[in-house]
Amino acid sequence: MIKNLYNGFIRIHILYHATEEQICGIEIIEELRRHGYSVSPGTVYPILHKMNNDKLLVAHNEIIDGKRRIYYKATSHGKKVLDQTREKIKELYDEVILNE
Ligand SMILES: [Zn+2]
Repeated sequence: MIKNLYNGFIRIHILYHATEEQICGIEIIEELRRHGYSVSPGTVYPILHKMNNDKLLVAHNEIIDGKRRIYYKATSHGKKVLDQTREKIKELYDEVILNE
């Protein structure tokens, strides 16, 4: 149950960071760990693929130290979805945190 709830948070983190800079799977895993989510590549990579298929992110390849890495950036659609999500987060925050 808690995993299902956190899945949305993880997607929002990814979308947010992808609007700020280009990101790859391993960086996202480290960033999420920093926020206290223990996620594995088996969790994060399918989410990135799905968000790419849903046109929230756009992917491109880069070769770093001879290794191919897939980097993602938010699309303009992704940015719009993040803005809508911000409203929802604010509303949720007002209710869940401020009413505590
Ligand atoms: Zn973050």
